[in-house]
Amino acid sequence: MYVQYKPKRGLLGTIFQVEILQGMALTLKRLFSKPITRQYPDVKPVIRPGFRGQHALVRDPETGDSKCIGCMRCAMACPSRCIRIRSHKGKEPGAKRKIDCYRIESLRCVYCGYCEEVCPVNAIVLTEVYEYGSYDRPSLYFTREQLLANWDRFVEEKGADMENYVNPFWRPRGLAEADLPAPKRLSVSAEWRGEEQVVGRKWQQQQAAQQD
Ligand code: SF4
Ligand code: SF4
Repeated sequence: MYVQYKPKRGLLGTIFQVEILQGMALTLKRLFSKPITRQYPDVKPVIRPGFRGQHALVRDPETGDSKCIGCMRCAMACPSRCIRIRSHKGKEPGAKRKIDCYRIESLRCVYCGYCEEVCPVNAIVLTEVYEYGSYDRPSLYFTREQLLANWDRFVEEKGADMENYVNPFWRPRGLAEADLPAPKRLSVSAEWRGEEQVVGRKWQQQQAAQQD
């Protein structure tokens, strides 16, 4: 069934075409109001805490290599299944796990930040870099070397001491400090500690207390 929309208007409305006048009045009003759009790329957006941009593997200043220990948590938490890790452990006693391959297909990433949140050693981060479009796919399939280079560029751009960089937004929230892996316990401002938030175990405790 085809229903045609017929605006209701009186004789005067038909004669003066009020809709056209209303449209022109709105255009005129917008001409003198403050724009709500940004003239990108001339005007850059303000990056807020928790921004999820280009992936990077944090370079360990001691070893010069990635901090990654190959625990696979990021790959397991990733809802897009876009993280691939291959690692091996040496035969000698006490040998650490070596990462043979670490890849992120950024084209499949949904920028949820789960990888960053679950990483116990803050090895993977979503930086504040957002301008990295490309015309070829391979350059957006980040290899370990590319991810480390992304980190180097980010550090250079920030120009700050990044040794203990951790984006406070991507600490697991609502958990007691003692329940967090040691590198996640880096001192962050009270605003980001999330202690006021009622989630996870805190929520369960609150519910139990209410039932008593
Ligand atoms: S941000 Fe989310 S989707 Fe992207 S790699 Fe990390 S866990 Fe996967
Ligand atoms: S969670 Fe962190 S340490 Fe574990 S594999 Fe991923 S990047 Fe490496």
